[in-house]
Amino acid sequence: MEQSRDSIKNIWGERTPYVGNWPVRQDQRTEVEPDQWVQSACVLCSNGCGLDIGVKDGRIVGVRGRSVDAVNHGRLGPKGLHGWVANNSKDRLTKPLIRKNRKLTEASWEEAMNLIVEKSRETIQKTTGLGIGFYTSGQLFLEEYYALAVIGKAGIGTPHMDGNTRLCTATSAAALKVSFGSDGQPGSYTDLDTTETILHCGHNIASQQTVLWMRILDRLDGPNPPKIIAIDPRDTFTAEKATIHLAPRVGTNLAVMNGLLNLIIQNGAIDQQYIDAHTTGFEDLKKLVSKYTAQKVQEISGVPADQLQQAADILSNTKTLVSTVLQGFYQSMQATASSVQVNNIHLIRGMIGKDGCGIYQMNGQPTAQNTRETGADGDLPGFRNWGNEDHVKQLAKIWNVDPIIIPHWSPPTHAMQIWRYAEQGSIKLLWISATNPAVSLPELSRIRKILEKKDLFVVVQDAFLTETAKYADVVLPAALWGEKTGTFTNADRTVHISHKAVDPPGEARADLDIFLDYADRMGFTDKDGAPLIKWKTAEEVFEGWKECSRGRPCDYTGLSYAKLSEGSGIQWPCNEQHPNGTRHIYTDGVFNTELEYCETYGHDLDTGAAVTKEEYKCKDPKGKAFIKAADFRPPHETPDEDYPLMLTTGRVVFHFHTRTKTGRSKELNEAAPDAFVQVSEQDAQNYGLNEGDLVEVSSRRGKVVQPVKIGNIIPGHVFIPFHYGYWDRPGRSRAANELTITEWDPVSKQPHFKYAAVRIKKVDDTVNNKIGSTIETIKGKLKPEEV
Ligand code: SF4
Repeated sequence: MEQSRDSIKNIWGERTPYVGNWPVRQDQRTEVEPDQWVQSACVLCSNGCGLDIGVKDGRIVGVRGRSVDAVNHGRLGPKGLHGWVANNSKDRLTKPLIRKNRKLTEASWEEAMNLIVEKSRETIQKTTGLGIGFYTSGQLFLEEYYALAVIGKAGIGTPHMDGNTRLCTATSAAALKVSFGSDGQPGSYTDLDTTETILHCGHNIASQQTVLWMRILDRLDGPNPPKIIAIDPRDTFTAEKATIHLAPRVGTNLAVMNGLLNLIIQNGAIDQQYIDAHTTGFEDLKKLVSKYTAQKVQEISGVPADQLQQAADILSNTKTLVSTVLQGFYQSMQATASSVQVNNIHLIRGMIGKDGCGIYQMNGQPTAQNTRETGADGDLPGFRNWGNEDHVKQLAKIWNVDPIIIPHWSPPTHAMQIWRYAEQGSIKLLWISATNPAVSLPELSRIRKILEKKDLFVVVQDAFLTETAKYADVVLPAALWGEKTGTFTNADRTVHISHKAVDPPGEARADLDIFLDYADRMGFTDKDGAPLIKWKTAEEVFEGWKECSRGRPCDYTGLSYAKLSEGSGIQWPCNEQHPNGTRHIYTDGVFNTELEYCETYGHDLDTGAAVTKEEYKCKDPKGKAFIKAADFRPPHETPDEDYPLMLTTGRVVFHFHTRTKTGRSKELNEAAPDAFVQVSEQDAQNYGLNEGDLVEVSSRRGKVVQPVKIGNIIPGHVFIPFHYGYWDRPGRSRAANELTITEWDPVSKQPHFKYAAVRIKKVDDTVNNKIGSTIETIKGKLKPEEV
């Protein structure tokens, strides 16, 4: 194995200090010298690093970062350098499977697709298209999502479409829509090259987006390093580098944000001219946040008043500011309300749409942005507004269908409701693609019961026999990244192309081919009786998508496969006006809130109640941004006598999602072999725990057994990483979501993974012996257990 650096031992690599122009450092890891390099980008987090896939003898043998790419300047993190080996795993699915006599049995594509078509027709006949639901991913390509969206909306006419992006980025979209009228990140990663201050809100960027963190580390080592404020209850890699680390109790983010806004206003640091010219709602915000004194915030959140003041002073005095927000806010109480306050800081300081001033309502998954753009998450494609008849008519014209078939009589069904409908029995066919809800959704015992239901026909399309696929009625073997061509968009709107480098194994097929085959077999037609879906290739779908995006905020009309294959990824909007893409949007202070252009008429931040078009019309902001405020409310489940601790869940640096891919890399697996329970020193002492002891953690919904890690978390809290399921270690209850709660944010509908009341108890030796050598593994003394 040849590698330019050991990214397991040194996660972020050597420093290249700078300010202004980030130097190139090309990271590479190959098994053997490739015969050929094929242009692509990494799909193991939302950073979207440009890379080339090394190929020899029709097999992927390595990757190297693309030095010309604006996102990563050649760098790759540990997941990017190692995750590709999953493509070569021996346990890839290579043939369709059908459940016969309760067992999954190999079948032909003909048999499998005919069965899905038969079940689809039967369901539509009995219940209309409302009997069919699609639950997709944040890991497919734009073309696959768009094809799926057209099938669901214009072929079947079901509003029941969403993805696991509901779990990771729904609040990103919601917070952007609430403030600016539509989805779309205002800034560019280049803002980090010059900014004076960085605010990380519930975003452990050092673990989640290692390459973006390298950019920040290099700034910290260069001239004029930025100040960093980190808001996180844990002492993470990110928090370690912070100038100020605010560690609030979980579920209290909104109180902290309201306190910061209040102190910034008290400091007289607002840009009144910008507020007057470009926003609406400031006086309401000022009045509401005035209650959140530093002392009051300390009482609610545990953040010391002097620390809050220091953070507010930095935010008041900085001339430029980059903010990033992720799951610590998105998956917690008042997710949208808290995330919107980050936008508000930028708006009241006039720090948006210019160099060094970016807001990143970050995405979790690599292609999550595309589910939102194309409507595979239930929204209407091109950031169109389901409540605007004209937007529906635009789509009907593009697809040549009657507008009535496009579901728009109510908001699209969000994922948690799709699962509820399946539980209640109104959804009869659930098609799950490239995701693993049997590990990733909250309250797993409930999810397993739903998947087991006899009256629910489950289709799973994946590259591996995941924990979810084991419950399927039909399993379709899918190609992975590198085995198909398509495009995807990262968290700063950069679009990359990923060319096919190798063939998929056995009979596995690209997800796009599977969807197009289904549309063909179902005989969906447009209103002239011609096939609804006329595309045969990914490039044809991309060209179709470009027309759908024309004139919308995410305008792709200036992009093409050829242009994307020239060098770096390109940021949308890319059109006649911006032929080389767009670094910042909202540079003129005009936002996408105009009545006939906006993606949503908005919501009440407290209740989630939707604003009607008529209500919106009365106070049409005409391009001004919304400044919306909300009062703090405590989490719905808090510690009590029976369950005295607060659980929060999250990631480790070496794994992605449910480890379906990263768990198949020997190096990543050895670096992070198992789940654990992180407790504070104080709690470890109270419970008589030593590092590595096995404990049982229980909530009102389930239990897990994990080894203990001590330190770097505030007392009263425990942390468990959510990646670990059962495919490689059956028998021990270890998925964090056995414990989590079925509830969600009222606006974004993103589930609350960040809090649940739990109790812990030490597991005795007998149980320990049965469970095996996990303790030793976590201490790093033994290799991971063979499974
Ligand atoms: S930062 Fe994200 S996109 Fe970049 S190499 Fe790492 S996992 Fe891949």
